[in-house]
Amino acid sequence: MLVDVALPLPRLSPLTYLLSDDQAGGRGTMDGFRVLVRVGKRTMTGTIVRSHPPSEASVEGIRHIEEVLDDDASCSPSMLKLTRWLAEYYLCSWGEAIHAALPAGLTPEAVVRVTVEQPLLPSDIAALERRAPKRASLLRLLQDHRDSVSVAWLEQQLRTSSIADQLAALQRDGIISITSGIEGAVAPKRQRAVVLSAKLAHDDDALRAALDILDHRSPKQSAVLGQLYLSHRRGEGPQLRTRLIEELRTTTAVVDSLVAKGYADLVTVDVRRESTAVGSLSQRSEGELPLTSEQLAAVESINAATSAKAPSIIVVEGVTGSGKTVVYQRAIRKVVAEGRRALILVPEIALTPQLADRFRDVFGEHVAVLHSRMHAGERTDVWRAIRSGEKSIVLGPRSAVLAPVQNLGIIIVDEEHEPSYKQDDPAPRYHGRDVAIMRGQFESCVVVLGSATLSLETARNVSLGRYQHCSLTHRADGAVMPEVRIVDMRTARKEGTLTGAFSHQLVDAIVERIGRKEGVLLFLNRRGYAREVQCHDCGDVPQCKNCDVSLTFHKATNMLRCHYCGHNEPARTMCLSCGGTSIKEVGTGTQRLEEDLAELLRERSVTATIARMDADSTARRGSHRKLLQRFADGDIDVLIGTQMVAKGLDIGRVTLVGIMAADQALYQSDFRASERTVQLLVQVAGRAGRTGSRPGTVLVQTFTPTHPAIQAAVTNTLKEWRESETSERLVPPTYHHHQKRQDSRSLGCAM
Ligand code: ADP
Ligand code: ZN
Repeated sequence: MLVDVALPLPRLSPLTYLLSDDQAGGRGTMDGFRVLVRVGKRTMTGTIVRSHPPSEASVEGIRHIEEVLDDDASCSPSMLKLTRWLAEYYLCSWGEAIHAALPAGLTPEAVVRVTVEQPLLPSDIAALERRAPKRASLLRLLQDHRDSVSVAWLEQQLRTSSIADQLAALQRDGIISITSGIEGAVAPKRQRAVVLSAKLAHDDDALRAALDILDHRSPKQSAVLGQLYLSHRRGEGPQLRTRLIEELRTTTAVVDSLVAKGYADLVTVDVRRESTAVGSLSQRSEGELPLTSEQLAAVESINAATSAKAPSIIVVEGVTGSGKTVVYQRAIRKVVAEGRRALILVPEIALTPQLADRFRDVFGEHVAVLHSRMHAGERTDVWRAIRSGEKSIVLGPRSAVLAPVQNLGIIIVDEEHEPSYKQDDPAPRYHGRDVAIMRGQFESCVVVLGSATLSLETARNVSLGRYQHCSLTHRADGAVMPEVRIVDMRTARKEGTLTGAFSHQLVDAIVERIGRKEGVLLFLNRRGYAREVQCHDCGDVPQCKNCDVSLTFHKATNMLRCHYCGHNEPARTMCLSCGGTSIKEVGTGTQRLEEDLAELLRERSVTATIARMDADSTARRGSHRKLLQRFADGDIDVLIGTQMVAKGLDIGRVTLVGIMAADQALYQSDFRASERTVQLLVQVAGRAGRTGSRPGTVLVQTFTPTHPAIQAAVTNTLKEWRESETSERLVPPTYHHHQKRQDSRSLGCAM
């Protein structure tokens, strides 16, 4: 049989190989099976994507498949279809797209290893040095390592890729041996387990007799047997031997002698390397909460769609704290009860441990979390459990959209507007939400897009009638929306009431909350490294005359440059819009904020614990969760964070949110800068006052209080803002283009 194999290499179409009848094992099609093949001089893992009809068989010069790696297809037909679309739409090879859908632990590679068989004496090596210096240094390196080493490692150490001749010579002389094998695949982890023997399990009298004898002769064995009997009664499977020994403080010998006597059986079981999260951040069970009427209406629309078993897209637009997560849970419950499965995408799983907890609270063991911060072994195990259908609910970031879930009934994309759904590197450079929509089409399932701040694309699809729409306009548990107040930093600056990045209004509010033991969240968006300059009198940030994006300040050359068109101009000392001369670089980071606040509080003799949550402070696994837990427990008074804190945080004791520099995201070199600003402000503000008993306040520090994006977020007029922003984006392109050309010519700017 001839088959096409997709390989994870760029710019490479599937290659044709020959599969023997033996390898096919009587199977009609082998599509989706992983195989080892030779490509040039390499051996690689690829996936069969097509089997040729027998008539096409002109087998001359076609290489054989080296080995079939699967007992069962790793890629289902619908996954093949989705990855093919992915490759065509996002311009990568089919193999690269498939590679993204398989966990790293499933893709073994051929590795060539070298072992020293007969070490040479130093004097012999010195002699060799004169004849063959390259060979000698290779041998020295080898003899320094007792274990075998890979050829790739040797090449790296010697900074050369041509050691084949040297190795061959050494092998001829019997000094080394060279072996090749497949490495890198993570096998399921297997462990010894013990179970009550069948003889005793079905015969109470025999069991009693055995216990009687043991009670006298060996109480330790009797204790183990008793334990095995109890777990048998409870209907549990075999007990891990290590765990049994640990729990009963006994030894392997004790367990094994029970086996020798025929009272117990020793078996091997697959163990999943799933890290169990410690503690739960959620405060109550949500499974049985009575729904609000808006929630009920949303659940009913989704249920109607999932019953239809046809592809459809439903947008759930709900203000922060309106209970969207609970809506998802109810919709999923119905789908799962019908024997179908659910996929939930979240912007960044490592940042939302709370969400995983909330789903586990309601669905327990049915939930699988899949993300890239997991170790290869763990990831592979979870992937297998999903593939086998053992887990019916999968939760993860964008990469989970390619999880091997079968019989999918619903896909939920939470916070669909989030930029983190876009993959930059490596290929495929896909958008998780858009792939979810395609997957929904291919697998005839419902896709739910949820957000408090819809992306303009999604909102437009709603207004064109392509997507269904439900809205949740109230907070779910009676909490009121927070009060949002603007602090005009221009006036604060003129009045001299600013200390670093802090207005006195904000400091007063922080001190008050600390006194009441309520939580304070300070938000500073530090995304992007480019520093702009800004006039501190009027708030103006110099923009490119051609492109309407902010100019980037290049300190080394003291120039302002447009990263879109390359336009360059000298940095100014005077503001072109108001004539002011206090032009400053923008760029206080969270770290400096922490120091400044500590100092301000010290001056006022206020003691408080301040913590910082950003990519630097949460690099370690689990540190993010610990920080949040301490904040929720009240051990931290003020939490300072980047956009990490904006996402999905649900901590009731937060009553004050301070947005340090609302305009910061506004002047990024991105046509979505306004949109991102509105989204971020609304999301961050939504972290305040999430329980009915304590209303929240949001202070928005800004130099441009009248900017439409800031106004929209503050006055909660998202819909109106969206309409005007959309109409701006919809200006006929020809007209737009023409204008720009003219401008750039008159400026002598190269486009
Ligand atoms: P969103 O995802 O829209 O921000 P959440 O689902 O996180 O909202 O809900 C916000 C809070 O309201 C959560 O603490 C949640 O437990 C609670 N909640 C949701 N629905 C209800 C309800 N029907 N009754 C009471 N509390 C609810
Ligand atoms: Zn420009």
